Amino acid sequence: MQISLSDKTIGFASRHTDICVIGSGVAGITAARRLLAAGHHVMLLESGGVDYAPDTASLNAGESIGDDYYPLESARLRFFGGTTAIWGGRCAELDPVDLERRHWVEHSGWPISYGELSRYYEEARQVFGLHCWQPKITDLEEAGVPVPAFDQRKLAVPVWSFDRRFNRFSLAHCLDLVHHPRCTVVTHATVTAINCRSNDRVIDNVVARSLNGNQLVVRPQMVVLAAGGLENPRILLNSRSSHQHGLGNNRDQVGRYFMEHPHARGGKITDGDAWRLLKLFGRRHDVDGQEVAPLITMSRGTQARTGSLNSSLTIVARQAESESQFWGMKAYGGLKHGIAPNRQGRALWMGVKRATTWAQRYVDPARPYLLHKMGKLELALLVRAEQAPNPLSRVTLSENRDSMGMQQIKLDWRLSDIDKHSVSSLVQTLGEEVARLGMGRVDPAAWLLDDGQRWRTDPLISAHPIGGYHHIGTTRMSGDPRHGVVDQSGRVHDTDNLYIVGSSTFPTSSWANPTLTIAALSMRTADKIAEALVRQNILGYRRKDQAAPSGVKLTTASETHVITGH
Ligand SMILES: Cc1cc2nc3c(=O)[nH]c(=O)nc-3n(C[C@H](O)[C@H](O)[C@H](O)COP(=O)(O)OP(=O)(O)OC[C@H]3O[C@@H](n4cnc5c(N)ncnc54)[C@H](O)[C@@H]3O)c2cc1C
Repeated sequence: MQISLSDKTIGFASRHTDICVIGSGVAGITAARRLLAAGHHVMLLESGGVDYAPDTASLNAGESIGDDYYPLESARLRFFGGTTAIWGGRCAELDPVDLERRHWVEHSGWPISYGELSRYYEEARQVFGLHCWQPKITDLEEAGVPVPAFDQRKLAVPVWSFDRRFNRFSLAHCLDLVHHPRCTVVTHATVTAINCRSNDRVIDNVVARSLNGNQLVVRPQMVVLAAGGLENPRILLNSRSSHQHGLGNNRDQVGRYFMEHPHARGGKITDGDAWRLLKLFGRRHDVDGQEVAPLITMSRGTQARTGSLNSSLTIVARQAESESQFWGMKAYGGLKHGIAPNRQGRALWMGVKRATTWAQRYVDPARPYLLHKMGKLELALLVRAEQAPNPLSRVTLSENRDSMGMQQIKLDWRLSDIDKHSVSSLVQTLGEEVARLGMGRVDPAAWLLDDGQRWRTDPLISAHPIGGYHHIGTTRMSGDPRHGVVDQSGRVHDTDNLYIVGSSTFPTSSWANPTLTIAALSMRTADKIAEALVRQNILGYRRKDQAAPSGVKLTTASETHVITGH
């Protein structure tokens, strides 16, 4: 069933459940589905309603005091389904090197093996309507697309798969949750605090409020925090009833290691085989009905030899850095960033995006190739970089409060020298290979040669010039509580029943877009929770297959409301 906490009949209410999931983005929805399938009762608390609303979106506001970042209010979405309502649908698996302890990357290494993660990818891919197998560049070769014979000891050519749907996680497409006899979805329920008994390891209750002043206290056996990479640390830091520095923050780790995938122009290819390169990299391809696109990374060996991160680039036709933007691109940017992301705004933007993708599929690479030959576009290197984990790049709390009384976030995003060095190595290695294959010459971007400049964003290289809107690392996973917030299972260190899912738990960021891995890890963490519940036998008071009553009982101090779903 679905109820809205802003329903005026509620006032103050409390409720027991097995598992309380906070946030209904892909992380929360995937965990909730898995826990329901394991036989548990789930209450899913979502801050927003079923569509964008400015008053709820304003709860995302915060300060940015570090490297230039997008306005925080619009850097993620706050309604059922979360940020996937406007995402790009790029899905990619992490590479084995991403989980390794790389001696050349400080703070690298995941406390779980690649095998532990990768066994969840097959199921995670199905969450996004993809084939269960990861397409490879050889699939494109077999489909007749010519692929440069890069030396595999130097460069790798992985591929993205694309989820073509933008509404997969909207409430209308998650009716399995709404109609599930053991699931209650509560919208307009912003969690403002997670409370332990005094100085205890056990979470006692979760407090959620609506904008019109209603309050719900949930007393769960287990809590899953799934509010996104910026809100997960914010909720922990705001939860100070029993831990003065915030929940899970005894060792000052919450909010540290904030990472993005910074974007940049890495340079350009001149005198190149433009047709061949654009035919491969400048468009999406079809592999067995699945949309895919290739990109370029350094092999593990090159990363180790050059002391570099696992950064990536693609070859695209773009205006030169010095040009002023074409009106068409300006209009697209205006549409994307100027219109509220409500249902109508999203429909308009998606229509434009679908038309562009359709045109690219049937017209490209002829269009960019001709514009390149006419001197209007250059063969540019669009960098989507890995950012190294940096404890000084962090989310803390600002003195400002939102309309719920919660302290807002203060983001201090800081890039490091290795981030730029890795882009230089990638561009240089590509240059060597392009020259060896007689495919042209790579001219590195000027900022890569300028010692004084740590990073340079370029509005002409991507509609998202700063980064991918990927919020990573702020409650990182670590076997050692001194160096992270959650353990190998996703459980917050020093607590018994609080888990976190989402990219905030990633110890390192890879080049790969995070959402497929978010889904995979959410499944894994849900399995760990289910195992823990069985181990602790804390569900002994209730038969696992017992259905919830048709109405939700919300017990207040003086009375009991029974609210039926709608
Ligand atoms: C323009 C854009 C393009 C993107 N493209 C890609 C891409 O191509 N590939 C990719 O992998 N990733 C992409 N991303 C990132 C992707 O959208 C995120 O990785 C993903 O949505 C994160 O899912 P999540 O569930 O962890 O968090 P979110 O989607 O942010 O969901 C968190 C949920 O928690 C709710 N919530 C927040 N605070 C509270 C609270 N206090 N109480 C209750 N509920 C709360 C929110 O309302 C929201 O519903 C893109 C992002 C943007 C903005």
